[in-house]
Amino acid sequence: MIHVVKDMQLSKNFRLSEFVCKEGKNEVYVDMKLINKLQELRDYINKSIEVVSGYRSPAYNQAIGGAEDSRHMYGDAADIKVKDMKPLEVGRMAEQIGFDGIGIYDTWTHVDTRGYRARWGDWATATFDKVGTTDIVYADPLSVYGEIVKMAGNKITGDFVNGGFYELSTMTPISPMVVNGALLIKRLAHDTVRRGTLIIYRDGTVQVKMIQDIDKEESLSNIHFAISGFNMFPLNLSAELWPDDISRKDWRTVMGYNPAKGKIVIAVRPDTTAERGKKTLVNLGCDRGIGLDAGGSTNARMNGKAVRLTDRVLHNIIRW
Ligand SMILES: [Zn+2]
Repeated sequence: MIHVVKDMQLSKNFRLSEFVCKEGKNEVYVDMKLINKLQELRDYINKSIEVVSGYRSPAYNQAIGGAEDSRHMYGDAADIKVKDMKPLEVGRMAEQIGFDGIGIYDTWTHVDTRGYRARWGDWATATFDKVGTTDIVYADPLSVYGEIVKMAGNKITGDFVNGGFYELSTMTPISPMVVNGALLIKRLAHDTVRRGTLIIYRDGTVQVKMIQDIDKEESLSNIHFAISGFNMFPLNLSAELWPDDISRKDWRTVMGYNPAKGKIVIAVRPDTTAERGKKTLVNLGCDRGIGLDAGGSTNARMNGKAVRLTDRVLHNIIRW
């Protein structure tokens, strides 16, 4: 137990005073594993993190009705808030950073470094379906996010689909991706085709637009997530036909928006031409959508099951 005499900087963005027990006795105990992970999360989100509750003395924990063996008493837990982000969204990112315990609450996210995995709260934002050979996920727009992975598809854990195209000779991703207002993948010189870009704004609305360079046409700070693929609809499909080499029948991932359900729809199916992919999304109630992936590297794991996995290296993926 340290009785705080002076505040001190624990990492680039966290100070000891932020973790002091709210009981008013100026008591604090912090595990640096927690601080290091929080700093990683802070860097990943690139927004400031408010620590709502850090260390709790056993007496204080009992007084506020905390869990009997609450990690807050061990100094390796924090309840956190990030402005303009839902607790679930923060939780999903904490998962990527590798926190052990993550709990989703109405207005905050609990994270800890207890040494083993624990999850609680409402994580169920996605529902799954399978119609014939088509695997489908329905996800809340604001729970969708993207990640740079640079890892073989069959080595990636958790649920995902792979994202954009690569330039094959250099394996450089060329399909723009925006995550939390940051342009993670820029459009590279490849062709002059204006891509169909699916954009999820921070207010949860979803659009598909034909754009060339997203950072020149949209205010990135308003964007929760965006990815470019092949334009499908509502814009004129003939404005960008899927090139011949990928219009051949093969496994494809298509991603659209069902306005009646307010859900992002992701579908993976075999023998899929551009027309078949579009028909799939229309059948699933979508009025806008794009085709993902350049060809042959369709990868997806849904609801814990491998839909399609390869040992090809994926550069970017989409999760929900
Ligand atoms: Zn907590």
